[in-house]
Amino acid sequence: MLLDIHEIHKSFRKPDGSELLVLDGINLAVNKGEIIGLLGRSGSGKSTLLRLIAGLAPPSAGSIIYLGNEVTAPPPGVAMVFQNPALFPWLTVLENVQLGLEALGLPINEVRQRAIKAIDLIGLDGFESAYPRELSGGMRQRVGFARALVVHPNILLMDEPFSALDVLTAETLRTDFLDLWSEGQLPIKGVILVTHNIEEAVLMCDRIFIFGSNPGRIINEIKVELPHPRARLDPTFRDLVERI
Ligand code: ADP
Ligand code: MG
Repeated sequence: MLLDIHEIHKSFRKPDGSELLVLDGINLAVNKGEIIGLLGRSGSGKSTLLRLIAGLAPPSAGSIIYLGNEVTAPPPGVAMVFQNPALFPWLTVLENVQLGLEALGLPINEVRQRAIKAIDLIGLDGFESAYPRELSGGMRQRVGFARALVVHPNILLMDEPFSALDVLTAETLRTDFLDLWSEGQLPIKGVILVTHNIEEAVLMCDRIFIFGSNPGRIINEIKVELPHPRARLDPTFRDLVERI
Protein backbone atom coordinates (compact mmCIF):
# COMPACT_ATOMS: atom_id res chain seq x y z
CA MET A 1 0.00 0.00 0.00
CA LEU A 2 1.33 3.42 -0.95
CA LEU A 3 -0.86 5.61 1.15
CA ASP A 4 -3.25 5.05 4.03
CA ILE A 5 -5.40 7.93 5.14
CA HIS A 6 -7.18 7.38 8.41
CA GLU A 7 -9.95 9.50 9.98
CA ILE A 8 -8.57 12.80 8.70
CA HIS A 9 -10.21 15.92 10.06
CA LYS A 10 -9.20 19.43 9.11
CA SER A 11 -10.59 22.72 10.29
CA PHE A 12 -9.52 26.30 9.70
CA ARG A 13 -10.00 29.23 12.05
CA LYS A 14 -12.33 31.82 10.59
CA PRO A 15 -11.68 35.57 11.01
CA ASP A 16 -14.41 35.73 13.71
CA GLY A 17 -12.48 33.11 15.70
CA SER A 18 -14.86 30.21 15.06
CA GLU A 19 -13.74 26.97 13.39
CA LEU A 20 -14.61 25.94 9.85
CA LEU A 21 -14.66 22.15 9.54
CA VAL A 22 -13.47 21.34 6.01
CA LEU A 23 -12.69 17.62 6.19
CA ASP A 24 -14.75 15.40 8.45
CA GLY A 25 -13.24 11.94 8.88
CA ILE A 26 -11.67 10.98 5.55
CA ASN A 27 -10.57 7.35 5.14
CA LEU A 28 -8.99 6.09 1.97
CA ALA A 29 -6.07 4.02 0.78
CA VAL A 30 -4.06 4.07 -2.42
CA ASN A 31 -2.48 0.85 -3.66
CA LYS A 32 0.41 0.54 -6.07
CA GLY A 33 -0.72 0.74 -9.67
CA GLU A 34 -3.93 2.63 -8.96
CA ILE A 35 -5.32 5.90 -10.19
CA ILE A 36 -7.64 7.16 -7.47
CA GLY A 37 -10.18 9.87 -8.21
CA LEU A 38 -11.51 12.47 -5.78
CA LEU A 39 -14.69 13.82 -7.32
CA GLY A 40 -16.63 16.61 -5.70
CA ARG A 41 -17.99 20.10 -5.90
CA SER A 42 -15.86 23.15 -5.48
CA GLY A 43 -15.28 23.80 -1.78
CA SER A 44 -15.64 20.17 -0.66
CA GLY A 45 -12.05 20.07 0.61
CA LYS A 46 -10.33 18.11 -2.18
CA SER A 47 -7.38 20.48 -2.55
CA THR A 48 -7.06 20.68 1.21
CA LEU A 49 -6.75 16.89 1.37
CA LEU A 50 -4.03 16.93 -1.30
CA ARG A 51 -2.12 19.59 0.66
CA LEU A 52 -2.26 17.40 3.77
CA ILE A 53 -1.01 14.38 1.81
CA ALA A 54 1.83 16.49 0.39
CA GLY A 55 2.76 17.48 3.95
CA LEU A 56 2.16 21.18 3.23
CA ALA A 57 -0.25 21.52 6.16
CA PRO A 58 -0.98 19.32 9.18
CA PRO A 59 -4.34 17.58 9.73
CA SER A 60 -6.33 18.66 12.79
CA ALA A 61 -6.82 14.97 13.63
CA GLY A 62 -6.18 11.59 12.04
CA SER A 63 -3.16 10.16 10.31
CA ILE A 64 -1.67 9.95 6.84
CA ILE A 65 0.66 7.00 6.45
CA TYR A 66 2.88 7.12 3.37
CA LEU A 67 4.98 4.00 2.73
CA GLY A 68 4.68 3.04 6.39
CA ASN A 69 5.60 6.44 7.87
CA GLU A 70 3.33 9.15 9.22
CA VAL A 71 3.44 12.32 7.10
CA THR A 72 4.49 15.28 9.26
CA ALA A 73 6.46 17.26 6.65
CA PRO A 74 6.66 17.19 2.84
CA PRO A 75 7.71 13.57 2.18
CA PRO A 76 10.10 12.60 -0.60
CA GLY A 77 8.49 10.97 -3.61
CA VAL A 78 5.26 12.96 -3.66
CA ALA A 79 4.83 15.44 -6.52
CA MET A 80 1.94 17.66 -7.56
CA VAL A 81 0.44 18.96 -10.78
CA PHE A 82 -1.86 21.97 -10.43
CA GLN A 83 -4.56 23.53 -12.59
CA ASN A 84 -2.06 26.22 -13.54
CA PRO A 85 1.58 25.14 -13.84
CA ALA A 86 2.90 28.53 -12.58
CA LEU A 87 6.11 28.34 -14.62
CA PHE A 88 8.85 30.90 -14.16
CA PRO A 89 8.55 33.08 -17.30
CA TRP A 90 12.23 34.01 -17.35
CA LEU A 91 13.36 30.35 -17.35
CA THR A 92 13.36 27.95 -20.29
CA VAL A 93 11.34 24.74 -20.34
CA LEU A 94 14.47 22.79 -19.41
CA GLU A 95 15.30 25.14 -16.52
CA ASN A 96 11.73 25.06 -15.24
CA VAL A 97 11.75 21.26 -15.23
CA GLN A 98 15.20 21.10 -13.64
CA LEU A 99 13.83 23.15 -10.75
CA GLY A 100 11.72 20.14 -9.81
CA LEU A 101 14.95 18.34 -8.96
CA GLU A 102 16.61 21.13 -7.03
CA ALA A 103 15.84 19.69 -3.61
CA LEU A 104 17.34 16.27 -4.42
CA GLY A 105 20.94 17.49 -4.60
CA LEU A 106 21.85 15.41 -7.67
CA PRO A 107 24.89 16.12 -9.86
CA ILE A 108 24.11 18.72 -12.53
CA ASN A 109 24.67 16.24 -15.38
CA GLU A 110 22.09 13.88 -13.97
CA VAL A 111 19.65 16.73 -13.34
CA ARG A 112 19.95 17.72 -17.00
CA GLN A 113 19.62 14.16 -18.29
CA ARG A 114 16.56 13.45 -16.20
CA ALA A 115 14.90 16.73 -17.15
CA ILE A 116 15.49 16.11 -20.87
CA LYS A 117 14.05 12.61 -20.49
CA ALA A 118 10.92 13.87 -18.70
CA ILE A 119 10.39 16.59 -21.32
CA ASP A 120 10.76 14.04 -24.10
CA LEU A 121 8.40 11.58 -22.38
CA ILE A 122 5.61 14.12 -22.05
CA GLY A 123 5.82 15.11 -25.70
CA LEU A 124 7.87 18.31 -25.65
CA ASP A 125 10.99 17.03 -27.37
CA GLY A 126 12.64 19.97 -29.14
CA PHE A 127 11.15 22.62 -26.84
CA GLU A 128 13.83 22.45 -24.13
CA SER A 129 15.08 25.98 -24.76
CA ALA A 130 11.66 27.57 -25.40
CA TYR A 131 10.23 30.05 -22.90
CA PRO A 132 6.76 29.58 -21.39
CA ARG A 133 5.31 32.54 -23.36
CA GLU A 134 6.17 30.71 -26.58
CA LEU A 135 4.04 27.71 -25.61
CA SER A 136 0.30 27.02 -25.81
CA GLY A 137 -1.65 26.36 -22.62
CA GLY A 138 -1.56 22.62 -23.23
CA MET A 139 2.20 22.67 -23.74
CA ARG A 140 2.70 24.74 -20.59
CA GLN A 141 0.73 22.14 -18.66
CA ARG A 142 2.93 19.45 -20.19
CA VAL A 143 5.87 21.31 -18.64
CA GLY A 144 3.97 21.14 -15.34
CA PHE A 145 3.69 17.38 -15.76
CA ALA A 146 7.39 17.06 -16.68
CA ARG A 147 8.39 19.08 -13.59
CA ALA A 148 6.43 16.65 -11.40
CA LEU A 149 7.51 13.45 -13.20
CA VAL A 150 11.19 14.36 -13.20
CA VAL A 151 11.47 13.49 -9.50
CA HIS A 152 10.15 9.97 -10.24
CA PRO A 153 7.53 10.33 -7.52
CA ASN A 154 5.88 7.34 -5.90
CA ILE A 155 2.64 9.26 -5.83
CA LEU A 156 1.53 11.92 -8.26
CA LEU A 157 -1.12 14.26 -6.87
CA MET A 158 -3.06 16.01 -9.61
CA ASP A 159 -5.35 18.90 -8.68
CA GLU A 160 -7.71 19.49 -11.62
CA PRO A 161 -4.79 19.40 -14.05
CA PHE A 162 -6.95 19.54 -17.16
CA SER A 163 -9.63 21.99 -16.09
CA ALA A 164 -7.94 25.16 -17.33
CA LEU A 165 -7.50 23.73 -20.83
CA ASP A 166 -9.96 23.81 -23.71
CA VAL A 167 -11.92 20.58 -24.12
CA LEU A 168 -9.90 19.17 -27.01
CA THR A 169 -6.52 19.99 -25.51
CA ALA A 170 -7.62 18.46 -22.23
CA GLU A 171 -8.70 15.31 -24.07
CA THR A 172 -5.33 15.01 -25.85
CA LEU A 173 -3.40 15.47 -22.63
CA ARG A 174 -5.55 12.94 -20.75
CA THR A 175 -5.13 10.40 -23.54
CA ASP A 176 -1.37 10.92 -23.73
CA PHE A 177 -1.10 10.56 -19.95
CA LEU A 178 -3.18 7.37 -19.95
CA ASP A 179 -1.23 5.88 -22.86
CA LEU A 180 2.04 6.41 -20.98
CA TRP A 181 0.50 5.04 -17.78
CA SER A 182 -0.89 1.89 -19.45
CA GLU A 183 2.41 1.30 -21.22
CA GLY A 184 4.20 1.51 -17.86
CA GLN A 185 6.33 4.41 -19.06
CA LEU A 186 5.60 6.83 -16.24
CA PRO A 187 8.09 6.80 -13.35
CA ILE A 188 5.26 6.78 -10.78
CA LYS A 189 3.52 4.10 -8.71
CA GLY A 190 0.15 5.66 -7.98
CA VAL A 191 -1.97 8.70 -8.77
CA ILE A 192 -4.60 10.75 -6.97
CA LEU A 193 -6.61 12.82 -9.40
CA VAL A 194 -8.84 15.59 -8.10
CA THR A 195 -11.57 16.57 -10.51
CA HIS A 196 -15.10 17.87 -10.74
CA ASN A 197 -15.51 16.27 -14.17
CA ILE A 198 -17.46 13.01 -13.95
CA GLU A 199 -16.42 11.70 -17.38
CA GLU A 200 -12.80 12.43 -16.66
CA ALA A 201 -13.02 10.53 -13.38
CA VAL A 202 -14.61 7.50 -15.04
CA LEU A 203 -12.15 7.52 -17.92
CA MET A 204 -9.02 7.88 -15.84
CA CYS A 205 -9.62 6.27 -12.46
CA ASP A 206 -9.72 2.75 -11.08
CA ARG A 207 -11.64 3.88 -8.00
CA ILE A 208 -13.51 7.11 -7.44
CA PHE A 209 -14.26 8.65 -4.06
CA ILE A 210 -17.23 10.98 -4.19
CA PHE A 211 -16.92 13.97 -1.86
CA GLY A 212 -19.90 15.60 -0.20
CA SER A 213 -19.60 19.22 0.95
CA ASN A 214 -19.96 21.21 4.15
CA PRO A 215 -18.07 19.57 5.67
CA GLY A 216 -16.11 17.51 3.13
CA ARG A 217 -16.61 13.81 3.59
CA ILE A 218 -16.59 10.74 1.39
CA ILE A 219 -20.17 9.79 0.62
CA ASN A 220 -19.48 7.02 -1.86
CA GLU A 221 -16.75 4.92 -3.39
CA ILE A 222 -17.13 3.66 -6.93
CA LYS A 223 -14.99 0.98 -8.48
CA VAL A 224 -14.79 1.39 -12.23
CA GLU A 225 -15.66 -2.07 -13.50
CA LEU A 226 -14.05 -3.98 -16.34
CA PRO A 227 -13.83 -3.55 -19.23
CA HIS A 228 -12.40 -0.28 -18.00
CA PRO A 229 -13.14 2.66 -20.33
CA ARG A 230 -9.38 3.13 -20.43
CA ALA A 231 -9.13 -0.18 -22.27
CA ARG A 232 -10.33 1.68 -25.33
CA LEU A 233 -6.92 3.33 -25.35
CA ASP A 234 -4.97 0.10 -25.05
CA PRO A 235 -3.36 -0.62 -28.45
CA THR A 236 -3.83 -4.39 -28.10
CA PHE A 237 -7.51 -3.82 -27.35
CA ARG A 238 -7.76 -1.52 -30.32
CA ASP A 239 -6.17 -4.19 -32.54
CA LEU A 240 -8.59 -6.79 -31.22
CA VAL A 241 -11.59 -4.62 -31.98
CA GLU A 242 -10.36 -4.01 -35.50
CA ARG A 243 -10.12 -7.77 -36.12
CA ILE A 244 -13.68 -8.54 -34.99
P1 ADP B 1 -11.94 22.14 -3.23
O1 ADP B 1 -10.54 21.90 -3.65
O2 ADP B 1 -12.75 20.89 -3.10
O3 ADP B 1 -12.63 23.14 -4.09
P2 ADP B 1 -10.71 23.43 -0.94
O4 ADP B 1 -9.95 22.35 -0.25
O5 ADP B 1 -9.95 24.36 -1.78
O6 ADP B 1 -11.92 22.77 -1.75
O7 ADP B 1 -11.49 24.28 0.14
C1 ADP B 1 -12.41 23.73 1.06
C2 ADP B 1 -12.85 24.80 2.04
O8 ADP B 1 -11.74 25.11 2.90
C3 ADP B 1 -13.30 26.09 1.42
O9 ADP B 1 -14.40 26.55 2.13
C4 ADP B 1 -12.10 27.00 1.59
O10 ADP B 1 -12.50 28.34 1.69
C5 ADP B 1 -11.52 26.51 2.91
N1 ADP B 1 -10.06 26.72 3.01
C6 ADP B 1 -9.12 26.09 2.25
N2 ADP B 1 -7.87 26.48 2.62
C7 ADP B 1 -8.04 27.37 3.63
C8 ADP B 1 -7.14 28.14 4.45
N3 ADP B 1 -5.80 28.03 4.29
N4 ADP B 1 -7.68 28.94 5.40
C9 ADP B 1 -9.01 29.02 5.56
N5 ADP B 1 -9.92 28.33 4.84
C10 ADP B 1 -9.45 27.51 3.88
MG1 MG C 1 -9.59 22.61 -5.30
